Amino acid sequence: MSFSDYWQQLEWQQLQQGIYEASSRDVERALGSNKLTLENFAALLSPAADSYLPQMAERAASLTRQRFGKTIQFYLPLYLSNLCANDCSYCGFSMSNRLKRRTLTPEEIERECLAIKQMGFDSVLLVTGEHEAKVGMNYFHSVLPIIKRHFNYLMMEVQPLAQEEYRELVSLGLDAVMVYQETYHQPTYASHHLRGKKQDFHWRLQTPDRLARAGVDKIGLGALIGLDDWRTDSLFVAHHLRYLEQNYWQSRYSISFPRLRPCAGNTRQQGLMRDRELVQLISAYRLLSPQVELSLSTREPAWLRDKLIPLGITSMSAGSSTSPGGYATATEALEQFSIDDNRSPSEVQAMIQAQGFEVVWKDWERSYSG
Ligand code: SF4
Repeated sequence: MSFSDYWQQLEWQQLQQGIYEASSRDVERALGSNKLTLENFAALLSPAADSYLPQMAERAASLTRQRFGKTIQFYLPLYLSNLCANDCSYCGFSMSNRLKRRTLTPEEIERECLAIKQMGFDSVLLVTGEHEAKVGMNYFHSVLPIIKRHFNYLMMEVQPLAQEEYRELVSLGLDAVMVYQETYHQPTYASHHLRGKKQDFHWRLQTPDRLARAGVDKIGLGALIGLDDWRTDSLFVAHHLRYLEQNYWQSRYSISFPRLRPCAGNTRQQGLMRDRELVQLISAYRLLSPQVELSLSTREPAWLRDKLIPLGITSMSAGSSTSPGGYATATEALEQFSIDDNRSPSEVQAMIQAQGFEVVWKDWERSYSG
């Protein structure tokens, strides 16, 4: 049994209809519930919930304070390679895009680590394109020990791997893996993933099962907002989260909600989710799961990130570069997508502190349990 089997029982159109037909009474029922069902969650995602946004946001903020206090965890993405053997319609690293490809050597990684360490970070998210032949297990084996010497908490966002491979990486110090399904609607998934192993929808869908079985501490889920109807995709993410929480309670979970950004080969500004709807989505996730971590990247503009802090966000990146080698040296345009919040980590930290929150540079929960 894996989430693929569970997914087979879900009907996209039926779930979508349930969201769009939810009434004010359904929203009020959800707001009156202490432990939300997935039907309650669907009501909170609905257009009918828009007029309840102040109540939703207030409740989300209060639940977040109870569970996480007034803290925001900081992490930084470390791009190791922009090689990729896939073609995704929305990504600058797609193999058919003509851009300079680069994979960091151990010496270059060492320099990046020192530059990141100087900024104060202790949690890094290692990012690569998906290129098993050149940036696969051999590469990870050689670079993880170098990076682990510098940082307490290692997260990865790379191609989906086998369960045994994840187990090996855990033994080298891997703590968390982010693996976003992009969209849970299979025909839409097929239309955006045009070449490469990423075309295998079910291999990706089963990845969180493999991660949990391999003993990975934290697993990140999410849909890329803007590929299909965000409300329905987010309800699928919620199903996935519930399934995992029930089957693998030893792991922790985080959710991201990246909205499409312009990139090389795709300069169209997508506008399929309004800022107000992002507030609705974050609040709904928090009401569904008081313990899930909610992560916000520098894809979002500074003014909006500032406003979202008190709502339910628990971790943020700041001062990010999406180019391999981008911290130690200024690089040419090798970016995966463009960043919107360009402030330095200390500027973002000052903004967070001005709102009465504390920035956490170290993942204490893992430090105590691991
Ligand atoms: S989204 Fe990932 S798999 Fe797709 S082209 Fe970009 S880096 Fe490669």
